[in-house]
Amino acid sequence: MKAVRIHEFGGPEVLRYEEAPDAKPRKDQVLVRVKACAMNHLDLWVRKGLPGVNLPHILGSDVAGEIVEIGEYVTGFKPGQRVLRAPMHFCNRCAKCVAGLQNQCGEFTVLGNRVDGGNCELIAAAAVNIIPIPDTLDFNQAASVPLVFLTAWHMLVGRAGIRPGQTVLVLGASSGVGIAAIQIAKLFHAFVITTAGDEKKLEKARGLGADHVINHYQQKISEEVKKLTNKEGVDIVVEHVGAATWEESMKCLKPAGTLVTCGATTGPNASFDLRFLYSRQLSLLGSYMGTMGELYEVLGHVFAGRLKPVVDRTFALQDIRAAHEYMEASQMFGKLVLNP
Ligand SMILES: [Zn+2]
Repeated sequence: MKAVRIHEFGGPEVLRYEEAPDAKPRKDQVLVRVKACAMNHLDLWVRKGLPGVNLPHILGSDVAGEIVEIGEYVTGFKPGQRVLRAPMHFCNRCAKCVAGLQNQCGEFTVLGNRVDGGNCELIAAAAVNIIPIPDTLDFNQAASVPLVFLTAWHMLVGRAGIRPGQTVLVLGASSGVGIAAIQIAKLFHAFVITTAGDEKKLEKARGLGADHVINHYQQKISEEVKKLTNKEGVDIVVEHVGAATWEESMKCLKPAGTLVTCGATTGPNASFDLRFLYSRQLSLLGSYMGTMGELYEVLGHVFAGRLKPVVDRTFALQDIRAAHEYMEASQMFGKLVLNP
């Protein structure tokens, strides 16, 4: 099959579109012909080098395609069926997995991180990871959903315990997690404030349902939030930006507010005054992907049309270097999708 592999870590030039051995399903797996694989910032981190990645390596976490082969032990699927592949790897037998807490499994990793991903033509997967998709979603839309909608759902629902009518600040409206978090918060009838770096992105954020948008290059986030909330602050901050916004994010919380974070795109080292944390009784929560149960829950809303994937543009898989360069330039609003 054709695949994009990296044989060393580095810039976009290490991405090689080449011939690779065909994926072969075990008896408990199905084989999927990849029709679309959406990109995530994780692709850039893995390409630049993360511990535990064996070379050569295939990137890509979000796969949608068609079943082409079904292992002897697998029931309930048929060839030609349109499916997506859950964007994670777990053992499916440890105490955490059988309790439905797959993202706490000792083997847990994101597809395309410490296991080969979907930047290729064929991928084999255990039946537990395969989820049928409705005809209302095309492959590019379906591939744009799993990682970011699962992440945002686990952050807001699983970790922060969002309740109807709360006030939520979502950083980075144009990112995949931002796009998902805005819509999920609106599903809970939250008052949603979000941030972006230019007028076009701010307009699109309004289109997703954000009640107020802040230009983070021209306005100070915490000052705007104070103005918009009658000096109270917000109940929940959805963080993934990291060092560049951490202090501002904490300042935006009302007393007993919750900051939940799933990433550190601008850098991992943040500092804060402990007195501010305890005297204001803040909660700082980490969040990583989500569970299979949560994936089914959020997909239910996507399949019913209550949450909408946003595709910025598609690239042929062989043009992957251009796709990585485009992502690094942060020009997109929504997902970039690779088509093998
Ligand atoms: Zn496990």
